[in-house]
Amino acid sequence: MRILVVEDEETIADIIATKLRHEKYEVDISYNGEDGLYNANSNIYDLIILDIMLPKINGLDILKEIKENDINAKVIMLTAKSELDDKLKGFGAGADDYVTKPFHIEELIARVNVQLRNKGKSKIKDTLEYSDLSLNIRTSTLTCKNTNESINIPYREFLLLEYLMNNKKQIISKEQIYDKVWGIDTDYESNNLEAYLSFLRKKIKIIGSKVNIKAVRNLGYKMED
Ligand code: CA
Repeated sequence: MRILVVEDEETIADIIATKLRHEKYEVDISYNGEDGLYNANSNIYDLIILDIMLPKINGLDILKEIKENDINAKVIMLTAKSELDDKLKGFGAGADDYVTKPFHIEELIARVNVQLRNKGKSKIKDTLEYSDLSLNIRTSTLTCKNTNESINIPYREFLLLEYLMNNKKQIISKEQIYDKVWGIDTDYESNNLEAYLSFLRKKIKIIGSKVNIKAVRNLGYKMED
């Protein structure tokens, strides 16, 4: 699960990010509204923690725009006590929850967990399906339904496969994959995407599936059967 923290008070943002990483979430931080909106629009986040008072673009405007863009992240707003009106506007604009500043970090984490648990439930299934493949997202096990053979998928390859299977109808660009699997600030050169893809292709083949991860020249990757 990947979370974006949009908060201009760097100390607060860093405390939130550190705590979330301890909870095994992947976290990116934006320290102003413009950067926050840009990152949120990448649609790679499961949840966004969004401060209201931000330089450049405020949190409510970010919320409105990402809702218009059908970004499906859960949103928790951070509001000062004096911003009650803003809080109500936030709910009107589609925020899922809010936390009033000053807050205990544990309270925020608890609310994040609640939102992401609900999000998990709303998916209902524990598995992602594509063609003859079934990926169990709790156990990271990939099964070929035709041969009934299974194989365990290591963490990065799992994130990669999960992303491809969630977007099976689209061509996914390298940049999108790096953002989702390695994080927004990653150095593209330092990660060998091709190697991970070839590990995955081998595993898919080993269990007898007909699925291929196809490279689409100059555009990216797509699953194919
Ligand atoms: Ca602020």
